Amino acid sequence: MNVVLVGPPGAGKGTQAQRLQETYGLRHLSTGDMLRAEVAGGTAIGKQAKAIMERGELVPDAILINMIAERIGQPDAAKGFLLDGFPRTVAQAEALDTTLSARKQRLDHVIQLVVDNDAMVERISGRFSCKKCGAGYHDSFRPTKKAGVCDACGSTEMVRRPDDKPETVRTRLAAYDKQTAPLLPYYRRQGVLREVDGMAPIDTVARLLGNLIDAA
Ligand code: AMP
Repeated sequence: MNVVLVGPPGAGKGTQAQRLQETYGLRHLSTGDMLRAEVAGGTAIGKQAKAIMERGELVPDAILINMIAERIGQPDAAKGFLLDGFPRTVAQAEALDTTLSARKQRLDHVIQLVVDNDAMVERISGRFSCKKCGAGYHDSFRPTKKAGVCDACGSTEMVRRPDDKPETVRTRLAAYDKQTAPLLPYYRRQGVLREVDGMAPIDTVARLLGNLIDAA
């Protein structure tokens, strides 16, 4: 099964995708994570993307389209994948359709996490994660059990994303409204769009997503 999660920054796509990967064995593919790895590795793509990401704008379509076409062809995505952060423009969605149909695959669900965009700045501003294992936390909504220590692996090295600053989050939300929201009518027309209340507690959202996938 192939699933896309859509929603503005802070909607919970990464958190939920991580859970769905554990429960359903769908490969979680986050283009944000892939780009951050390119930046950290100092590759040509990373050098091109770094400043754009720091401003909270979208990296050019051609880069992302190639990256995802290559990634979904790898063996670990063959049993099904869960896209988080891609597509983000209609051009990316069209390219994904072309790639999938050439591979005789399709999207089973495009699930929109419906949230109040105004609440996203607060949600994002408190986010941090464990540098070692990647577990995600939040100052107010999901603190570590022991301050400064990762619940999952015990590491004490926590990191915050440079683009999670409030002013950058506002640019990212504006990019979502202008460039990504047009995906919703695109997928509605294809009959694959589903909606889940992304303002509900994390466990409830996970259950609602699970129900949709189980019903497929
Ligand atoms: P994310 O981790 O999904 O919030 O992505 C972080 C940043 O990476 C975004 O603000 C964009 O600058 C860039 N990015 C991630 N995915 C895409 C995409 N599909 N298209 C363009 N830029 C992207």
